[in-house]
Amino acid sequence: MNRINYQKELDKVINRLEQQGRVPRLLLHSCCAPCSSYVLEYLSRYFEITVFYYNPNIYPPEEFGMRVEEQKRLIAQLPAEHPISFLDGPYEPERFYEMARGLEQVPEGGERCFKCYRLRLTETAEMARAGKYDYFTTTLSISPLKNAEKLNEIGGQLAKDYGVDYLYSDFKKRNGYKRSTELSREYGLYRQDYCGCVFSMRERRTQQKAAVKEI
Ligand code: SF4
Repeated sequence: MNRINYQKELDKVINRLEQQGRVPRLLLHSCCAPCSSYVLEYLSRYFEITVFYYNPNIYPPEEFGMRVEEQKRLIAQLPAEHPISFLDGPYEPERFYEMARGLEQVPEGGERCFKCYRLRLTETAEMARAGKYDYFTTTLSISPLKNAEKLNEIGGQLAKDYGVDYLYSDFKKRNGYKRSTELSREYGLYRQDYCGCVFSMRERRTQQKAAVKEI
């Protein structure tokens, strides 16, 4: 089966919007300031964006607080053609642990992550419907460790369920990930070395210890 090129799908939407002279409202789920940096620089040329910070997976709570503050700082400092605003989601780690039950040992990139994507995107779709946004999407596909196929599949299903268009995308394309690292340096953004949950943190520490032993 041919893989869908989600960057090309996004190009089609943007071309159509430019022809129509429209600037729609987009609810953009973000996991952290560094991942959002390139996405905001890119999409704020075409959309009026609200960044939605809903990440019940983040551990520990101090990390959650730091990521929120960096997200707000980036929005305040990043030049943008169309306005970017911020919407704070609740911190509900109990929802994440309930979802992850039985999947604690699954390595990053597996079934637990797919459910984690769904949890965060479902909340985003709900907010998008409640706020009458034209589109919703997430920054998550910028990471080389995230499964863009799965994210777009979930987004497409939720679009049908909630009646809001999902903005299909794969932000790591066109050097998106590289640009996010450049912007992170430029703005001095705090960049964590693990995905976000306690399980990913443990996995990263184990890998780091193994690397030290090899030296
Ligand atoms: S590794 Fe990342 S995507 Fe996977 S469950 Fe943890 S926080 Fe969610």
